[in-house]
Amino acid sequence: MKNKSTSAHIVIVGAGFAGINTAKKLGNLAGIRITILDKNNYHLFQPLLYQVAMAGLSPAEIASPIRSILAKYDNIEINLGEVIAINPEEKFIETEFKKISFDYLVLACGASHSYFGRNEWEQFAPGMKTIEQATEIRRRVLTAFEIAEQLDSEKDQEKYLTFIVVGGGPTGVELSGSLCEIAYHTLNNEFKKIDPKKTKVILIEAGQRILASFSETLSNKAKEDLEQIGATIILNKRVDKISADGVWLGETLIPAKTVIWAAGVQPSKTGKYLNTPLDSVGRVIVEDSLNIKKYPYIFVIGDQSHCKDKFNKPLPGLAPVAIQQGIHTAKNICRALNKKDLLPFIYFDKGTMATIGKGRAISEYSGIKMRGKIAWLAWLFVHILYLIGFRNKFFVLCQWIWSYLTFGRGARLITKQDWRSNSD
Ligand SMILES: Cc1cc2nc3c(=O)[nH]c(=O)nc-3n(C[C@H](O)[C@H](O)[C@H](O)COP(=O)(O)OP(=O)(O)OC[C@H]3O[C@@H](n4cnc5c(N)ncnc54)[C@H](O)[C@@H]3O)c2cc1C
Repeated sequence: MKNKSTSAHIVIVGAGFAGINTAKKLGNLAGIRITILDKNNYHLFQPLLYQVAMAGLSPAEIASPIRSILAKYDNIEINLGEVIAINPEEKFIETEFKKISFDYLVLACGASHSYFGRNEWEQFAPGMKTIEQATEIRRRVLTAFEIAEQLDSEKDQEKYLTFIVVGGGPTGVELSGSLCEIAYHTLNNEFKKIDPKKTKVILIEAGQRILASFSETLSNKAKEDLEQIGATIILNKRVDKISADGVWLGETLIPAKTVIWAAGVQPSKTGKYLNTPLDSVGRVIVEDSLNIKKYPYIFVIGDQSHCKDKFNKPLPGLAPVAIQQGIHTAKNICRALNKKDLLPFIYFDKGTMATIGKGRAISEYSGIKMRGKIAWLAWLFVHILYLIGFRNKFFVLCQWIWSYLTFGRGARLITKQDWRSNSD
């Protein structure tokens, strides 16, 4: 490695799927030094967050310390902190602690959930993007059963034993399927007063079908599967209000003490710091080489980037898109340093998959459709493969085997002091 003054300084903001892959690809390359900044000290495997919320896995099993992932790269410095401003012209970012100058900037801050302007719903219906949110959902779900057990009136118990999930995308479907498994299998026989089998799991979707990104056949099969394991699915209904009493569809209230939001996402607000065009949802519009026209030394990748596919449609917010963009950005930075033209990003679509419950999933790749156990095994394999760290792969696999054999969920902990806070 060249000395500090002659090395190109690459600053990467965000150690999610996109940022961590750029860093790994540039790690230990001569003539480059990297600073990676993240507001958390860990890289989170978001696709398995719902298993933390549903008490199947513990947070540490789906998160790895950024320092340990990047420990072997001598040219990478890791900073814990949040970017609070960017000066794209003078080439520096600001954190709570200091200014960091860059030669190239990679912005990869991902997305958070969106309540479509109704942020007051968040307190009644938490979304699931972070470990804190997932453990809060776990607390609410487990607490609801505990409170129901202590109530005398069946009507009151019913409110606590009704769980509503808003949004029928992959996360909403995974949550609904897991809630059914908890209620009808895991907790069965564990309570004396209530019968967890009386639990209602209701999934509300505004569109005509759940899992709308899949073909109609697979989406209908997923609906059948989810109904078979006990969920009620309401389609074509938009939520009008959420409160401590439940969810309103028009004038009708569905009473429920636990509501989970899985309906919308919005890109990180850090894109606004660049003062360049954003799309209608707030993603930064980038060139096909993933950098910004006005500031070619700034790359924006992953969920917060608007990059078009070969059909001129924006690429979806998926882990494989972020991973491939991260790797591509590293290659383009090396090309820029060597005064070569940047290459356009071409997404290699590896297909999509969603799980519904034990032994039930759907997957689609290049027109090949799979469902049932084969799709479910493929889902397990892919998730273990992409999970970072041997320890995590090993423990998650063990948990899944145990859970498959017993329906057990090993992380059923109510950890907040004020454990009754979803009661009246
Ligand atoms: C519940 C859930 C389930 C999902 N399931 C799937 C799935 O099954 N398959 C699939 O392909 N995709 C799935 N996704 C989507 C996938 O996780 C995202 O597409 C992917 O994480 C995007 O990667 P990213 O690097 O752009 O952002 P992220 O992985 O979100 O990483 C962003 C990073 O930036 C950091 N950060 C944010 N703001 C700042 C700031 N101001 N300063 C410093 N650091 C900051 C964050 O801490 C984070 O580490 C799921 C997402 C969620 C939430």
